[in-house]
Amino acid sequence: MSIVFDINNVVRDSVKILKPYSSARDEYVSDGSEMIFLDANENPYDNGVNRYPDPYQRSLKSVLAEQKGISESNMMLGNGSDEVLDLIFRAFCEPNQDNIITLPPTYGMYKVLSGINAVENREVLLTSDFEPDVPEILKNVDDKTKLVFICSPNNPTGNAFQKEAIQRLLESFHGLVVIDEAYIDFAQEESWLARLKEYPNLIVTQTLSKAYGLAGIRLGICYASEEIIAVLNKIKPPYNVNQLTQQRALERVMDPNIVEVEVQQILKEREALIDALQGLSFVEKIFPTDANFVLVKVDNANKRYQQLLEKQVVVRNRSNQPLCENTLRFTVGTPEENNTLIAILKQLD
Ligand SMILES: *Cc1c(COP(=O)(O)O)cnc(C)c1O
Repeated sequence: MSIVFDINNVVRDSVKILKPYSSARDEYVSDGSEMIFLDANENPYDNGVNRYPDPYQRSLKSVLAEQKGISESNMMLGNGSDEVLDLIFRAFCEPNQDNIITLPPTYGMYKVLSGINAVENREVLLTSDFEPDVPEILKNVDDKTKLVFICSPNNPTGNAFQKEAIQRLLESFHGLVVIDEAYIDFAQEESWLARLKEYPNLIVTQTLSKAYGLAGIRLGICYASEEIIAVLNKIKPPYNVNQLTQQRALERVMDPNIVEVEVQQILKEREALIDALQGLSFVEKIFPTDANFVLVKVDNANKRYQQLLEKQVVVRNRSNQPLCENTLRFTVGTPEENNTLIAILKQLD
């Protein structure tokens, strides 16, 4: 099936006519030869970070591109996914005019960003088994609907959504479908990255904050068609990914075995945690998970949350989210942390 999609129908007019800031590092691109750089008003004395970073993060992108089997021109990097998501709003959503669709219970940033950008957020609840309600989503679409946010695996529920539902959305909705794959490295499911060529209206976001263990350096990744990436590159702050982040990210992605070993360990601990939770009298339901956390329905979430705090364990109480009454979200820790947690849980009364 071929998708009818014209990027000119979704880019804001102000972005279309924008002439982007041209940085020193845009106007002269180093080819590696020894030059004297007197073009950016930097301090010339070398301390490792006295120069502006590469605005397009070419070294990092080339490694990522090879590992993900995708071209660098299909990739934009940001200061965490949070920046990537904000840039998507700013590129495509006209304030006080356009709208987006989100599927609660889900990641809270989509709603916050819609508020910051003055874009109406139409909420279509997931079904009771935490799947997208595609007919209801399509009912809420009008000609001002620019984005639908799909978080898969979903935070806080943990499940990856059924492929068919996402596919139907991609084929029926003529705005952009943003699939947030922050937890994809923990899932059995294949990334939607492999389907980018098929769907010109698809944006996939990933992050180094979870499986890659680099939440502190802030690096988010956006994958999309060359046209979409060109728009995002045009509006991003020129030096949005700092030098230290580019270096640390590069070191980490060049050593994918360490990431794989840690992911496997976390998955093993996740199963041990689920086993232990199953034997607890106050646990009412353990929701299926494809992520590095488990959502659990308990008898009294506020009480259990407080009891854990008193034992120096901080979990997330998700009870105020729709469909998540009396739920706690447990992130999977190290084996030692996990054993401590399990021992504490067994003693709660
Ligand atoms: C943790 C998380 C992110 C990561 O955001 P960063 O800004 O890259 O740290 C993105 N999306 C979801 C759903 C998350 O849970």
